Amino acid sequence: MRKIGVLTSGGDSPGMNAAIRAVVRKAIFHNVEVYGIYYGYQGLISGDIRKLEIGSVGDIIHRGGTMLHSARCLDFKTEEGQLKGIEQLKKHGIEGLVVIGGDGSYRGAGALTKRGYPCIGVPGTIDNDIPGTDFTIGFDTALNTVIDAIDRIRDTATSHERTYVVEVMGRDAGDLALWAGLAGGAETILCPECDYNMEELIAKLIRGKERGKKHSIIIVAEGVGSAVDIAREIEAETHFDTRVTVLGHVQRGGSPSANDRVLASRLGAHAVELLIEGKGGRAVGLEKNQLVDYDIIEVLSHKHAIDRKMYDLSSELSI
Ligand code: ADP
Repeated sequence: MRKIGVLTSGGDSPGMNAAIRAVVRKAIFHNVEVYGIYYGYQGLISGDIRKLEIGSVGDIIHRGGTMLHSARCLDFKTEEGQLKGIEQLKKHGIEGLVVIGGDGSYRGAGALTKRGYPCIGVPGTIDNDIPGTDFTIGFDTALNTVIDAIDRIRDTATSHERTYVVEVMGRDAGDLALWAGLAGGAETILCPECDYNMEELIAKLIRGKERGKKHSIIIVAEGVGSAVDIAREIEAETHFDTRVTVLGHVQRGGSPSANDRVLASRLGAHAVELLIEGKGGRAVGLEKNQLVDYDIIEVLSHKHAIDRKMYDLSSELSI
């Protein structure tokens, strides 16, 4: 393989730049040319494709976001869009593609794979919801951003003896809520994967107050429902001063953590190794600190599961 392409797609995550850098430098190290495809599948269809050199990815390892930008592209879900994309790749002589993104982006890479075009998926999302890897690029950074926010909220919650409902990202996946809740010492964690009982939640808050707790923090993944509605219900039942903080897009930005930079560097380089070996249609990951790769179509047929033991532990530690 003499020429490969790289794109970032879907929701951005901290560490995507480190992954791009790894793809570019690893490829050039092996005398393979690299082309950056800007604005995800949108740029693939329109031909927004530029050659990247060693210096093109200088000074980005510590930056959040993605230098290749990202976009959502409905056209790529159609046969016409996918064929246009392949046509552009062929026009530029690009023989394989690295796609850095979440599950939607993987579906796009899977679609290209089914059409016989070699693609490698690199998991880049703060949601940590891609099967075939213990961690996705950006999760660790987002988690630390959430923890920083919880610590600050805890200070003011204690001063004013308040209950806080903190909404974190995660439409279908509760990893961020679960890890942040455990690391932040939250009273209750509400994840999309786990049922919850409002009466029990309220009883726990009252028990805590009775034994002298000065604050309570409830972490809600956005997919569970409105944090505002949950807070209203708590306040109506308990008459505790209850506030809501929706963290929103601050969770997506910021300089990637050391762990995310290392993960991105290892996964980006592994993706290039596979393409050089002539292996397409794979999704790379890290399991038990070992690089792995799986059939990308197969990966898409699985669903990421939350760690129930960790969820139970968080309940036990917050009695
Ligand atoms: P993420 O990758 O963060 O999950 P999205 O779900 O928005 O983000 O997906 C990113 C892009 O991947 C979409 O805008 C679309 O271009 C492409 N994509 C998503 N699903 C498919 C699909 N089933 N077939 C082809 N392309 C898809």
